[in-house]
Amino acid sequence: MALYKAIDILKLADSKHTAALAFNCADYNMVHSVAVAAETVQKPVICMLHPDHHRIENWITPELFAKLVADEAAAVSVPMAMHLDHCSDFDYLVRALKAGFTSVMYDGSMLPFEENIKNTREITKVAHAMGATVEAELGHVGIAATVTDQSNLDLYTQPEFAAEFCERTSCDSVAVAIGSAHGFYKQTPHLDLERLAAIDAATRTPLVLHGGTGIPDEQLLLAFQRGINKLNVGTEFFWLYYQTIKSYDAPDITQLPRTVQAALTEYLKKKFQLSF
Ligand SMILES: [Zn+2]
Repeated sequence: MALYKAIDILKLADSKHTAALAFNCADYNMVHSVAVAAETVQKPVICMLHPDHHRIENWITPELFAKLVADEAAAVSVPMAMHLDHCSDFDYLVRALKAGFTSVMYDGSMLPFEENIKNTREITKVAHAMGATVEAELGHVGIAATVTDQSNLDLYTQPEFAAEFCERTSCDSVAVAIGSAHGFYKQTPHLDLERLAAIDAATRTPLVLHGGTGIPDEQLLLAFQRGINKLNVGTEFFWLYYQTIKSYDAPDITQLPRTVQAALTEYLKKKFQLSF
């Protein structure tokens, strides 16, 4: 099947009152495992590149990532899409769009409201002209290691601003801050589901939940029913990759990729039970 656009997968999820799963990936082992697992369970999926995995950790370039996901998508029979995660660098966003990304996230969540709107609107114009879509962020999803981030109500998305934000930016989806955070949680998060329902009622734009590692499944399923159409998962996927390499002690190192892919695929197949 040809590559899908992330927004079409989000719309599919919306029509079924569920969320598409989006996994941060950084190399062939990860993207291929996502494709194999999605094909096995016959569910749509989104592969995301975080710019840090290129610019800081040097796993892969956006150009290579785009080719890799397109190749894998062509080999499966389920919808598969690519997305650039958290980016606030205009030049890098354009680079990703030129590389073939059909979906990018502009993260202006730490900027004042008006500035976030201005920048999001600008990148959305460019992306739309190139046939791509934009995920924005309103409110700020913090770092789980900093408990104050996750429970700081000042950073939560305010429903009354969500409608105005989506309308003025023309963004295609929006990440909301409702009590989740990035990384491993120090304590079990409690999503503000009432706030989520209010945001969903205030806007027709598909909503995205970041910080998918460690949120109890029951809360995730309720969040999907209340308007979340995309769930981002990164930390636990990477952690499993690292742990699998660390515990590999077979004499034949050539079997390491297969071992990693088998572990990732098993994890993904279970994770997919959450959606669709
Ligand atoms: Zn995120």
